[in-house]
Amino acid sequence: MPDIDLIVREIAEEMRARPDRGDVATYIPELARVDPAAFALAVVDVDGHVAVGGDADVAFSIQSISKVFTLTLALGKVGNRLWERVGREPSGSPFNSIVQLENERGIPRNPFINAGAIAVTDVILSGHQPKEALGEILRFMRFLADDPTISMDDAVAASEQRTGFRNRALANYMKAFGVLENPVDYTLGVYFHHCAIAMSCRQLALAGRFLAHGGRNPATGHSVVSPERARRINAIMMTCGHYDGSGEFAYRVGLPGKSGVGGGILAIAPRKASIAVWSPGLDASGNSHLGRIALERLAQRLGWSVFG
Ligand code: GLN
Repeated sequence: MPDIDLIVREIAEEMRARPDRGDVATYIPELARVDPAAFALAVVDVDGHVAVGGDADVAFSIQSISKVFTLTLALGKVGNRLWERVGREPSGSPFNSIVQLENERGIPRNPFINAGAIAVTDVILSGHQPKEALGEILRFMRFLADDPTISMDDAVAASEQRTGFRNRALANYMKAFGVLENPVDYTLGVYFHHCAIAMSCRQLALAGRFLAHGGRNPATGHSVVSPERARRINAIMMTCGHYDGSGEFAYRVGLPGKSGVGGGILAIAPRKASIAVWSPGLDASGNSHLGRIALERLAQRLGWSVFG
């Protein structure tokens, strides 16, 4: 049996010593305040053992990783009708791209690019006040991680509210095609706030466990989604989770993963583990530079890959 604790610690040390870190996101001003040298890795195995390295209990802005959980919630609410509002093809475009919206009559390519995630948020919001929708998302995160302390960072949300002009453009564009049902400002408010959920790698890895275990959280016994739905969410993470870096991530890591511009990545090794990594410096596609390298090392050393 490989010693996962040792491997995780070694990878964390190796990553911390590297000079190449990528650049911290600055387009959301509040995110620019984070320590670029931070690094964390947490792996929860089948038995619930959590192996940690680095700052695994420091909360960071999960940003687009929240889109995995809003997708799960929206599918729970409207089932496969969700696919009338959003596609499930990789876009090959950056996370904030608007170019494909016109050809597809305002239907975003997939639920993980910003446009798609805004459409998914709109589905969750319908029939509720924004506060209720946010409460539902936060309660879901707390339930999944079995941790009532998880919260939203209002400073990050406010920072993005002030500067999120591109997201506003995407939302207005979709609204013009009738893809969004709610007032644009309401939908965006909920979107900015769920992106601003703050979690540590330990909490995030725990929250992702249902995706590694056929839709069920083995710790609590709670069934979150059906095994088929868990497989499909993993498939979308694999094909779309890293935007125009999704092919490279599949090639190098070989596991479904979802990144966020806060520098976090959630990766799933089916039947083996749920993994969270955090290093704030990003590559050219807006994905964590050292986070991806750390996952590549981990997958290599443990022989984890969905490709056999
Ligand atoms: N809140 C960010 C945005 O909308 C999320 C982007 C990301 O994490 N890739 O720009």
